[in-house]
Amino acid sequence: MNKGFFGKVLWVDLSTETFREQNIPETSYRSYLGGYGLGCELIYRNMPVHTSPFEEDSILGFFPGLLTGTAAPLTGRFMVVGKSPLTNTWGDANAGGTFGPAIKKCGYDGILIEGKSNSPKIILIKQSERQILDGTDYWGKDIVLTEKLLKEKFGTSVRIASIGKAGENLSKISGITNDHGRIAARAGLGAIMGSKKLKSLILDGNRKVNISDKSKFMGHVKKYNKNAVPKDPGLTMKYILYQLPNMAKMLRKLNIGMSGPSNIIRSVYRHLGTIAGNTISAENGDTPIKNWKGIGMYDFPFEKSIKLSSTNIITYKVRDYGCFSCPIQCGAILKVPELGIEETHQPEYETCAAFGPFLLNDDLLSIIKINDLCNRAAIDTISTGVTIGFAIECYENGILTKKDTDGLELTWGNADAIVSLTKKIINREGFGDLLADGCKIASEKIGNGSEKYAITSLGSEIPMHNPRVIESLAFSYAYDPTPGRHTTASIDFFDIGNMNTFIKELKFPFGWKWSAKRKQKAQRKVTAIHQVISCLGLCLFSSQFGNYPLLGLINSLTGWNVSIEELITTGIRIQTLRQAFNIREGVKIHTNELSGRIIGDPPDTKGPNKGVTIEYKKFYELFCQEIGWNPENGYPLIKTLSNLDLDYVINDLYELI
Ligand code: SF4
Repeated sequence: MNKGFFGKVLWVDLSTETFREQNIPETSYRSYLGGYGLGCELIYRNMPVHTSPFEEDSILGFFPGLLTGTAAPLTGRFMVVGKSPLTNTWGDANAGGTFGPAIKKCGYDGILIEGKSNSPKIILIKQSERQILDGTDYWGKDIVLTEKLLKEKFGTSVRIASIGKAGENLSKISGITNDHGRIAARAGLGAIMGSKKLKSLILDGNRKVNISDKSKFMGHVKKYNKNAVPKDPGLTMKYILYQLPNMAKMLRKLNIGMSGPSNIIRSVYRHLGTIAGNTISAENGDTPIKNWKGIGMYDFPFEKSIKLSSTNIITYKVRDYGCFSCPIQCGAILKVPELGIEETHQPEYETCAAFGPFLLNDDLLSIIKINDLCNRAAIDTISTGVTIGFAIECYENGILTKKDTDGLELTWGNADAIVSLTKKIINREGFGDLLADGCKIASEKIGNGSEKYAITSLGSEIPMHNPRVIESLAFSYAYDPTPGRHTTASIDFFDIGNMNTFIKELKFPFGWKWSAKRKQKAQRKVTAIHQVISCLGLCLFSSQFGNYPLLGLINSLTGWNVSIEELITTGIRIQTLRQAFNIREGVKIHTNELSGRIIGDPPDTKGPNKGVTIEYKKFYELFCQEIGWNPENGYPLIKTLSNLDLDYVINDLYELI
């Protein structure tokens, strides 16, 4: 009997309306750790080369992590995987909540959707029942109403992942939403679901993962949770937490970022969530301002950014919530009487930044409203905000006029116009249709010099963290197989969480910050461990919460005896396979270049990033050498592929040269 996994995935073919179970050998689980690593292997092996994301052969996978569905702390997350319609590269998008564990409860380690339907469909997997049903009644409805109607029909215990209006409209910046607003947002994977005419995936099961050594496993869980559950911080600490935004100017002057002891960081996440960074990051140069051409302290000064502070947002909080099996619970539900909203998710930092400082918008209520609209429509808030920033700059420079914008006065900080345009993008209405596939595609249609205002990496809008503050983000923005992402491995970004404390066995080279060679060795480990974290279903924030019993949990769950070295090899294997996927698709990611605005070329002449220009190309070359890829073209070397047991990839890559 399998221990730690079910040993099978479910394939659903929407063209033939059939289901098929595939048994997966244990060697695959050990090689790819289950989760999205397994998804990567299955899509690589089964999707024909050069399949367009909207073609019948395109595969969309839903993969909980190896630890998802168990009591292992912070592991309730899942990945949606496929070929990104936005960038035509490998695409993945992560979400939390309860949907990932629900896949496991149905007795599967992953669900893969292939084929296409001609009319709206929903898929129901309930205990041993599997059905493809007519979804016409739900098509066109927002995800909150869709979930309500589906729960009324199929019972309150079902867990649901759906597309909203954006995915139905094949918007290449659309995502997939579960739990009323937890969204696997990036890479435009919602549009694949829309192209297949699949509205919702509905799950209800009661299977449990077999645990090899339950007592050891639960020992690790209890020990971690004993320390991890944030205690009531007391009045003084609460006062400091709520005063954090007011310290933004001082923190900037002292050049202090958002790191700190893990017990304090856990409290910050519990009480404030990611919005703790709102005002501080606008002030210290991390948040991009005015489509990457502004400087926070001058263009969006403290008097404006403080209006978007965590302290102001949590006045609307009615309760905390979080993902399955998470002791931190960093999310919150808001009630906003001014907007007539009874219940909505607290916006995350990325959303507040993309619709706030990025657009010079200091109207907090407009941002909460937009967050609610985007969640209901299941559209990526980073991409939508950045695309609106692009449109505003085109308008500012006369490339677009009121005639083009359906009469909208598209100026910086015009909250009403930003809300209206968001609705138009969601509905592909008028001018919104032009922007609904992100700013790169819009600029190709608009032409007239607009391309320079479309700040993307291979079409993916860049998130709300500035490489001039977190240096190696430029490298991951440019060169990760899912380009333009802050959640991929960047040694400087992960250092926020102090990786040596997180997983003691990793043992980073001493003084890595001050030696290019050591930094590359550290980057290799971070790249690998990031893949491992994603495969396990572990929340990326976990790296900030102190020591995590990674090896203990994996080994007591599965009965394996994996070492940190084996995990690092596994992580490199998955990253190499993602790279190979892109090369096989003809993506020349090694020639990718970032806009000068992102890397500070030319550098700012004032402000917190004054004089800073980021070098990222050489960093990538050194990384390629470290990881066993050819630094000239990013191809994994044949011996690297062989050493990683990726021999099946060799012919695909080397036929091309
Ligand atoms: S820290 Fe937040 S995002 Fe991470 S698992 Fe917990 S609730 Fe989910």
